[in-house]
Amino acid sequence: MNSKSKLPLSLEFFPPKTPEGAEKLAAVRRALYAVRPQFCSVTYGAGGSTQEGTWATVQAIRADGVEGVPHFSCLGTTRAVARTTLQQFKDAGVKRIVALRGDLPSGYGAYGEFRYASELVEFIRTETGDHFHIEVAAYPETHPQAKSPQADLLAFAIKAKAGASSAITQYFYNTDAYFRFVDDAHALGVDIDIVPGIMPITNSSQLIRFSEACGAEIPRWIRRRLEAFGDDRASIQSFGLDVVTDLVDQLRTAGVPGLHFYAMNQSAPVLEICRRLGLA
Ligand code: FAD
Repeated sequence: MNSKSKLPLSLEFFPPKTPEGAEKLAAVRRALYAVRPQFCSVTYGAGGSTQEGTWATVQAIRADGVEGVPHFSCLGTTRAVARTTLQQFKDAGVKRIVALRGDLPSGYGAYGEFRYASELVEFIRTETGDHFHIEVAAYPETHPQAKSPQADLLAFAIKAKAGASSAITQYFYNTDAYFRFVDDAHALGVDIDIVPGIMPITNSSQLIRFSEACGAEIPRWIRRRLEAFGDDRASIQSFGLDVVTDLVDQLRTAGVPGLHFYAMNQSAPVLEICRRLGLA
């Protein structure tokens, strides 16, 4: 836990694809441990694309003496496979997982035996009782496939009540959307912590592409400023640090239960934001 503010911080990585990537990530992790993360989670590709890499990275984090948390996406999998995976996690001493539906890579048509993350959460509770702290995903700006914002909120409430312990949001740059979502979830009787996910801004074309795919809105003024910088990476990074530091400051001041950084396997942006806010 962070010593100065006591605000729990967590970090998210993706599994590297090459031995060089794994070495680079090891150095990034060592630098980021300066922020004393409560845990570090590792993404998991539904449909088998990164599953071994996820587990190898979780084990490397655990070997560093930090809580390594696997993401587990249920789309395209069976109950038997999920049972075996949960047993593997349990046997290794994993106590926390991020339970997701996931997105299948293009070309995968089969849904498998789970349709929604809420079914996975229910399955985990039935199979393993209270063993795992189950994190789930939340979407303050609405999941892109949801029928409506209200339907998405209700689906989130169902997922929480199926046995989730806490939630991490998709990233956002509109704090109002987050606060509204938290209030609406509470009004539906959801009493778990909803921790904001924070995406540092380092590369405008990548951010715009990601945001279109995951339904996160980049406010017009941010997008226009990023577009105006063109290829000027230094200005994008400097502007991005200012914007995201302000965002985190507002969230912290409002008393959020924690902060989850999408570190994108880079240390500098998260370290600088935390340094500016006295979180590191
Ligand atoms: P769900 O909660 O199942 O929701 C999916 C959609 O179904 C939503 O539109 C929801 O409104 C709808 N829905 C849910 N339940 C019902 C119901 N009962 N009836 C009707 N509609 C319903 N993806 C990966 O592949 N790997 C990762 O490691 C990964 N990590 C992530 C971490 C975080 C913190 C976040 C926020 C997202 C992550 N994602 C990851 C992306 C996520 O998998 C996608 O957004 C995916 O499309 C939805 O997953 P979910 O668990 O939120 O699904």
